[in-house]
Amino acid sequence: MKNFFNKTTEDVLHSFGTTKEGLKDTEVDLYREKYGENVLSEKKKKSTIQVFFEQFKDLLVIILIIAGIVSIATGNVESTIVIFAVIILNAILGTVQHVKAEQSLNSLKALSAPNAKVLRNGVKTEVPSKDIVPGDILVLEAGDLVVADGRIIENYSLQVNESSLTGESESVTKTSDVIAKDEIALGDQKNMVFSSSLVTYGRALVIVTATGMDTELGKIATLMEQTQEKKTPLQISLDDFSKKLAIVILVICAIVFGLSVYRNTPILDSLMFAVALAVAAIPEALSSIVTIVLAIGTQKMAKEHAIIKSLKAVEGLGSVSIICSDKTGTLTQNKMTTKQIYVDGKLIASEKLDLTNEAEQYLLNSAVLCNDSTSIDGQEIGDPTEVALVNLAHIYNLKEDAVRNEFERLKEIPFDSDRKLMSTVHQLDGKNIMFTKGAFDVLLNRVTSIKTSNGLRPITEDDKQKIIDTNMELSQNGLRVLAFAYKELPEIRDLTLEDESEYTFLGLVSMIDPPRVESAEAVRDCITAGIKPIMITGDHKITASAIAKQIGILQDGDMAVTGLELDKMSEEELMRKLDHISVYARVSPEHKIRIVSAWQNKGKIVAMTGDGVNDAPALKQADIGIAMGITGTEVSKDAASMILTDDNFATIVKAITNGRNVYANIKNSIKFLLSGNTSGILAVLYASIMALPVPFMPVHLLFINLLTDSLPAIAIGVENPTKDLLKEKPRDSKESILTKDFILDIAIEGLIIAVFTIVAFHIGLEAGPAVASTMAFSTLCLGRLFHGFNCRGKASIFKLGLGSNKYSIYAFLTGAILLNLVLFVPPLQKLFEVATLSWTQVGLIYLLAFLPTVIIQGIKVFKEAFVKDSQEEDKKAAI
Ligand code: ATP
Repeated sequence: MKNFFNKTTEDVLHSFGTTKEGLKDTEVDLYREKYGENVLSEKKKKSTIQVFFEQFKDLLVIILIIAGIVSIATGNVESTIVIFAVIILNAILGTVQHVKAEQSLNSLKALSAPNAKVLRNGVKTEVPSKDIVPGDILVLEAGDLVVADGRIIENYSLQVNESSLTGESESVTKTSDVIAKDEIALGDQKNMVFSSSLVTYGRALVIVTATGMDTELGKIATLMEQTQEKKTPLQISLDDFSKKLAIVILVICAIVFGLSVYRNTPILDSLMFAVALAVAAIPEALSSIVTIVLAIGTQKMAKEHAIIKSLKAVEGLGSVSIICSDKTGTLTQNKMTTKQIYVDGKLIASEKLDLTNEAEQYLLNSAVLCNDSTSIDGQEIGDPTEVALVNLAHIYNLKEDAVRNEFERLKEIPFDSDRKLMSTVHQLDGKNIMFTKGAFDVLLNRVTSIKTSNGLRPITEDDKQKIIDTNMELSQNGLRVLAFAYKELPEIRDLTLEDESEYTFLGLVSMIDPPRVESAEAVRDCITAGIKPIMITGDHKITASAIAKQIGILQDGDMAVTGLELDKMSEEELMRKLDHISVYARVSPEHKIRIVSAWQNKGKIVAMTGDGVNDAPALKQADIGIAMGITGTEVSKDAASMILTDDNFATIVKAITNGRNVYANIKNSIKFLLSGNTSGILAVLYASIMALPVPFMPVHLLFINLLTDSLPAIAIGVENPTKDLLKEKPRDSKESILTKDFILDIAIEGLIIAVFTIVAFHIGLEAGPAVASTMAFSTLCLGRLFHGFNCRGKASIFKLGLGSNKYSIYAFLTGAILLNLVLFVPPLQKLFEVATLSWTQVGLIYLLAFLPTVIIQGIKVFKEAFVKDSQEEDKKAAI
């Protein structure tokens, strides 16, 4: 492997046959052919066959196999065939579901894959990182993820965190100088950058020297472990529940078996009882339904612009009670347009600058020079604040390329949101000029003189007061104000932060960034949903408060606090005031961590947005870290658990609604499955205690649990959110899904279905055990299919609307058709051990299966009327 650190930049460029302008498209194609895509090969995935066989590791399957063997022993070959067919079908379904879930995760991963900025044909463009080839010229800026190895050819204070490679957590300062050595450690290769590092500061141009598996990262992780999706808390607690349930079931089975044997029931029949009970009780479909519903939920959210990076976040979203949101771009449109400009003691419209006035000319030059963005042929690249300034220059026919070529940038201190300033050095009229732009309040304290049409003079208190008043006037209208200043340097040398002082004031440029149209409504929805929206911004307090008022975040009695004021607050004071603070202005990313932690200490689940490189720790600290898909840095996307592809606050609220809905749907599906199982268990237990014949064959229960029950369960899982969902308070994240009320509901509903199943069984017994078993099975199956409608939501079906979830109707009809096929098609009759029924018996089954739903719906209607009445009475009492 060649070393590049000891070569000059020209040599490296030469060895890839390229220039600082970047590769041409034809060369890119050529290199791609030669070196392949810039991706790391993943460890060989489990083959589909392997996944298939893994499905047999389950306790359920073992019980089923026992059931199959017992069936052979009882001479029931058909039953054995069905059981083994079911086992295989179940394994196929499990495999398909596994593969599908993997595909859906992969597609989400692809959506959140990083991009990289490159120079190609001399033009800066953004491309997916997989398209980077050796020889490409990468443009690195603070917040970027380094996506390939490369040699630095131009360096502007670049600092990189290489902890993923070297373990060193401190950022490393880079250089473009040659290192004249033959062999040095990775950490000492200061003129190289390596894939997976994070740019924490500065800027650089880099020529890519290795991609994909040839990078240092590729070498270490020769085979990348495939990232395994971790189970969500809900999945873990359900797995745990299933295991406990299985043990309890086995114990009860043993007791039932013992009871039968004690009563001198033949051993095989006793065994059939035990097996029937086990099959009835084990919720076969439970864990796959939860995964399917979570996966469908994330797909839906991705379509609605929220990419979920971990399934855990879907659940977490349902309990969010605080949203800390950035202002710029999330609550506002991030479409900045310059408005009024204050220069030379007067406030003028941005298109009214007089370039013969030296102060105005300097201001405009600095707006273009102290600026990294471009706006060419409608394609705007860079920070919208800076793009607005470039567009301002266009009004005066000043093209950024031309100005920047004429007055080359010699040194710089890049912008960072802690310092809130940016400085660049250029030679103008033979002088070394350092231009600085930044936050008004930060810069004003550092000016000592002022530039006017009459030249330079010391700044007076009057000048300052006028500037402060102008800033106030502009900010109160919600305008963002940027201050400009400059100073002359005696010589060109590397800048330090101390250089950012003793300035000459140039002027103020205000720009408008209107709130997004949907922000106000989303804020209202939040408040109705018991979620507190909080604005956290780097912008000025007055500007922030004006916007926050417009969209309803800052209401009467609420406070706006600056980062400085926050610093002065003790922990106790902050905790006391926390509930009332709606706006944090002029904050640095570190403040965000303090705000998140404070709310977390109050037991709240906090969602926090972030876009900058320094936001990563806060995003990680928040329960739901949200990155911006369009404007966010790769670093923030890496740290977040959700990415907004439209950067929009309203999308967060939509995602929370979806999160709540997914959780509610899963809960309803679980209720449906468990109450259905309860009815089966109670019927078998009843028969066992009353010394009656076995009411169901294992095939009957398998048919219900795996086929007819799965359909309504999935239909319930895709139920649309109701309006009421946003009226509820956020769910307590610590609350277990299996609350007392929930279990009571399951028990009651299970009991009601069981009672009618037992009635059907008794009616059937008059015609013999075979008819009895068929009637019990059919009533249970159909009763559970009807029950699917009951579990769609808390409300009665009249409120929900029968047609509002067409899948639930399809699920019911498919299940009913399947049942009728089993009942009426002779070969299936034999296979599923059902007797031929008379029409009266069939009619009775439908009636007995429908009655539990009538009762359950009746209870709901009664509750709706009763609860409503009592609520109204409460209201009256309150008045
Ligand atoms: P939010 O935190 O809501 O996204 P923001 O964009 O104002 O808001 P920062 O990017 O941290 O937050 O900016 C903080 C302040 O720094 C701004 O209010 C502005 O005064 C100044 N500023 C922003 N961008 C630049 C820039 N490119 N150059 C110089 N100063 C800037």
